[in-house]
Amino acid sequence: MNYNKKTVRDIDVKGKKVLLRCDFNVPMAKDGSGVITDDKRIRAALPTIQYLLDQGAAVIACSHMGKPKGEVKPELSLKPVAVRLGELLGKEIVMAADVVGPDAQAKAAALQPGQILLLENTRFEKGETKNDPALAKAMASMAEVYVSDAFGAVHRAHASTAGVADYLPAVSGFLIQKELDFIGGALANPKRPLVAILGGSKVSSKIGVINNLLEIADTIIIGGGMAYTFSAAQGGKVGNSLLEEDWKDYSLEMVQKAKDKGVKLLLPVDTVCADAFAPDAKSQVVLSGEIPDGWEGLDIGPETVKLYCDAVKDAGTVIWNGPMGVFEFPAFAKGTEAVAEALSKTSAITIIGGGDSAAAVQQLGYADKMTHISTGGGASLEFMEGKELPGVACLLDA
Ligand code: ADP
Ligand code: MG
Repeated sequence: MNYNKKTVRDIDVKGKKVLLRCDFNVPMAKDGSGVITDDKRIRAALPTIQYLLDQGAAVIACSHMGKPKGEVKPELSLKPVAVRLGELLGKEIVMAADVVGPDAQAKAAALQPGQILLLENTRFEKGETKNDPALAKAMASMAEVYVSDAFGAVHRAHASTAGVADYLPAVSGFLIQKELDFIGGALANPKRPLVAILGGSKVSSKIGVINNLLEIADTIIIGGGMAYTFSAAQGGKVGNSLLEEDWKDYSLEMVQKAKDKGVKLLLPVDTVCADAFAPDAKSQVVLSGEIPDGWEGLDIGPETVKLYCDAVKDAGTVIWNGPMGVFEFPAFAKGTEAVAEALSKTSAITIIGGGDSAAAVQQLGYADKMTHISTGGGASLEFMEGKELPGVACLLDA
């Protein structure tokens, strides 16, 4: 995939109507009160919106929220987003009652440079997730330029994330540009040595990432729950640890592939195991492959921490996906925290992908020490898997 795409800076938007795909899929209070519990995604969209307004564009913003499955669900309306966006920009936001219906069309037609219109939840339309050309065309007909800044949705080929690009010149906003620069740059042309740290819960959810990064990285570090499948496959005792029997052969293949390719593959040498999956469980450190019956591994051990921190010291680039342990329990967050601290001290380009990994780095207080934290959980995983991202592929090449 070509990661070198035109951006808003490469296109003239003065006096034009710009359809801007944002990721306004913000978490809402469960009580239906319409309260946004975290407005990070709205804030993240501001630089591109502000740039477009400054350039004299009229902005027609759109986004999905939740999974209304093609039906109008009032609790998934973007109205609260319009209110918050207006507060953040200090500007009135014109809210459309529909996506491509008469209200949206009329308000889009009347929109002036410097104004913002927010369309309703794109998934209120049945054609959105089917990438229906009729819907894409109707959305495109309201604008003259398409700007995509919803990195969290680029792995979906939907009408508003990819289809519209068939009808309008399409470029990226600043959020997507940053993701392409950092993740794309690390995959296509990394500053070496490239160290990939892979953890999280399951091997099965990371096969694509392991496989792709084995082609690119100089060192691969395995931690988290998936390490126990590797350990069991090599004959280790893993007690009650997370284990995917069906993926034992695959993990052996990956060990072999690393050998064949001359990639250094590091596995935990010790582990912190607990007598229950609980924050206050009794714990002990044992060697990898020697977890007693009735105990389960919840974090990497202190010798492994040393080994892994040493391995990132001289890295040129580090890609990290997947926590080293159950970081949600403070007693088992030490491995993840130590790795985060080690990354904060390197001069390497440090890239964090994956929803839980981003949350871990934030929670542990290392977010502002990383070069780049991806804004897309699923999208960043598919990116690291080397898959083509429809919402990126549809943009004009630079
Ligand atoms: P990401 O969202 O960054 O891609 P994953 O979803 O793959 O990461 O994994 C995150 C989850 O893995 C966390 O909730 C964490 O508690 C869990 N995890 C990490 N290590 C273990 C372990 N040893 N046992 C059970 N769960 C683990
Ligand atoms: Mg996750």
